[in-house]
Amino acid sequence: MIKRHKLIVLCLIMSVVLAGCGKSKTPVQSETSFLMDTVATISIYDKKDKDIINQAFKRTTEVEDLMSKTIAKSDISNINKNAGEKGVKVSEETYNIIKKALEIAEKTDGAFDPSIGPLVELWNIKETEDRNWIPTEEEIEAAKTLVNYKDVELSNGEVKLLKKGMKLDLGGIAKGYGADEVRKVLEANKVESAIIDLGGNIFAMGSKYNDEPWNIGIKNPDSSESDYIGIVGVEDKTVVTSGGYERYFKIGDEIYHHIIEPETGYPAKSEFKSVTIVGDNSMLADALSTSIYILGLEKGKELISSIKDVDVIFLTTDDIVYVSKGLKDNFVLKNEKLQLKELD
Ligand code: AMP
Ligand code: MG
Repeated sequence: MIKRHKLIVLCLIMSVVLAGCGKSKTPVQSETSFLMDTVATISIYDKKDKDIINQAFKRTTEVEDLMSKTIAKSDISNINKNAGEKGVKVSEETYNIIKKALEIAEKTDGAFDPSIGPLVELWNIKETEDRNWIPTEEEIEAAKTLVNYKDVELSNGEVKLLKKGMKLDLGGIAKGYGADEVRKVLEANKVESAIIDLGGNIFAMGSKYNDEPWNIGIKNPDSSESDYIGIVGVEDKTVVTSGGYERYFKIGDEIYHHIIEPETGYPAKSEFKSVTIVGDNSMLADALSTSIYILGLEKGKELISSIKDVDVIFLTTDDIVYVSKGLKDNFVLKNEKLQLKELD
């Protein structure tokens, strides 16, 4: 009799463990990998099944294989190789992401431009590095003539770059897309509590173990990795930040970073130290954070007001943190040197 009782208790415990119900305080599984040119970490708080993370990383590899400009067989490499010659048939996914990127280009008057490739290659800004040269004025002018989203043609599943030497670069939007795709994989596997981090493109799925919002730290661009300007509380939202501090080199006092202003051909002289977008779609948030970093405060505000369900945290170069209304009660400033204002 006692034996039977013990067996029932054991079965109950086992079924709870196997079903993995309930959210844990710490991740029940977490993995980091280098992909899409960045460090990616997936942490799951409610389901212990390694296959889920494997499926998620497999999905990001598929996205990278289509969208990377350095993988020779990718859709993007194919398009770039045939620039000025012919249109290239691409996967539906690549087609749709380029379409989205062109819509954002249109909306931002070309501040965001997925044909930025020639300028990105010319500047060749990788990780924070020691460097003492910049491209010449002539080189920059020449590359600028090859950057224009209006010369990207989409029709019937084909993409054509109208001028020889043009190059697509989806670095400003693809990580967000990857984060959305990872989220879909986790959702399909009934994961309800997870943090997806694709090189700072965060998707905070569901809520924490106690059903409270996740606390996402917004990095202090002037300081080390673990220092935050503030903490934002979110549930089931993406949090994406762009800033010139992410990849740059310095010559004297001048900083040259990886977000290029198509109009000048130089790294954007931004009014911001960083731009954070909080929303439902990570691809859109990714494109918007890069765009607004270039556009500045006034145009950035205009752009945001034309888009539904998106909130922002802007840190300006004069150390003001602007937080949009929707986040007013969910953001806590963590740096007394900064001034907090509500975005009007
Ligand atoms: P992010 O880190 O998301 O702000 O994106 C920066 C990346 O986007 C760069 O490393 C480039 O690959 C790409 N990029 C740079 N400038 C632009 C631009 N003006 N429009 C679109 N993409 C850009
Ligand atoms: Mg971006």
